[in-house]
Parts: sequence; C-alpha cells; structure tokens
Amino acid sequence: MVTETDGIILRQTKIARDRKMIVLFTRKFGKISAGTGIRQSGKKSSLPLRPFTHGRYEIYTGRNSYNIDAAETIESFFSIGEDIDRFFCASCALEFTDKVLAESMPAEPVLDTLISFLRILSNRKKKMRSFLIMYEWKILYMTGYGPVTDRCASCGREDEPAGFSIADGGTVCRSCVDSGRINMRLLYSIKFDIIQILKFIGLNNIDSFANLAFGPETEDYLDRILHEYVSYHLDIRGLKSESYLSLD
Ligand SMILES: [Zn+2]
Repeated sequence: MVTETDGIILRQTKIARDRKMIVLFTRKFGKISAGTGIRQSGKKSSLPLRPFTHGRYEIYTGRNSYNIDAAETIESFFSIGEDIDRFFCASCALEFTDKVLAESMPAEPVLDTLISFLRILSNRKKKMRSFLIMYEWKILYMTGYGPVTDRCASCGREDEPAGFSIADGGTVCRSCVDSGRINMRLLYSIKFDIIQILKFIGLNNIDSFANLAFGPETEDYLDRILHEYVSYHLDIRGLKSESYLSLD
C-alpha cells in the first residue's frame, strides 16, 4: 500500500552504494525507518532526501517495512547549512528528537514543533544554543517527560522548592532534601530562575521562544540538568550537544 505523508528526515545511513536507510519522522506513522531502494521502470530515480527540509513523501508500506517511493520539498530551511552554529544546533535537535521518540508512535504536535524550530532557527541571528535548549526541554514536556515544578516531586507538598532532583523528576521541598531520601549527587540547586524558565517552556508554544535567549551561565546550567535528566530517565547519553562550543 502506498501512503502519502509529510515529515522530516532525522537520520540517514548508507547501507549500500545506492541504498540508504532513512529514519523519517512522519505525520502519519511517527518515527519510522524506511529504505530507499527505488526502481521505476528499470531506472533509478534520485530522491531529494535532504536534511533540514520539510518534505512530502510517498511511502510504500510492506508487511514489516517501509520504502520511500517519492519525495518532494514542502519547505527547505537551507540557511541552516550556511552557518556552522545553526547547523550544529539543528543537527543536535534532530538527534535529540530521534532519541526521545519511540518508533511508530504518531506525534503530530512534536513534528509541528520541530518544523517551527527549524523555521525559526533558520532566521535566528544569534544565541542558537539557547533556542536549542528550549526546544529540547519543550520536547520532553510534549512527550510526557517534563519535570514537575509546581510541587515537590517526591512528597507532593506545594512548599518552596529547595532543589531540583534529577532522580525524582523535578523540584523537591526542604523537608524531603533534609530527610536523606533524595539522591544528593543528582540534586541541583535552584538558580538563574530555572524554575520560571522551565514553567514557561512547559506552558508555551515554540513560537513564544523565538526572541528569547539566556545568559551563558543559565545556558550551561539548563543544558547540564537536561543531559543528566535524559540520561537518568530515558537512558539517552552521548548527545552531540554535550560537546557544544558556544560561538556567540
Ligand atoms: Zn517533599
């Protein structure tokens, strides 16, 4: 059966001279792995399988596999390839999205957020990393992994937060911190307004972040917590963005 859907390529791997395996984030099927072994009346057609492009894809669905039969560009965010910092952030965002998404689970709002991210990034002039960090936290919220910030993640009390506990998945109150039940190695102090920032990211859509930026220390802090958080809760490690070198 052939279905048409739009999507974004998250990753491509060459598996033979003229065959690639594409990890494609589609509207209809969610994240899928699809082949590109195309032969039409004996001759190969070349597919415009470009990164950083919102495309429309014709997908042949077999019993256990997908194949991309045709592709066309809906919107190309070509300026991402023209700036190293932008390019790096876009690559990090695709990698992060790929790792967070489960296979074959439609996630339309996440796809639309990724499309908006690439569109805004391609016009953004500076502080790309701030925007990447906002995107990554936003995706965690959207996929149900957002941290608890409106009460104590351990006991539920609505007391003033005394720290951010990675293991508990959010802010924790003073009496929980003092109780000895919290993993202190994974407890972060609350500084740089990170709670307000996380709440804002959780509540707002990505377009609201277009003109926001953090100071370098806030960036580092939010990024460090994010990496610890996804490592602990989602087993995601070794992300490209961990080697981020700010070029601002
Ligand atoms: Zn508590």
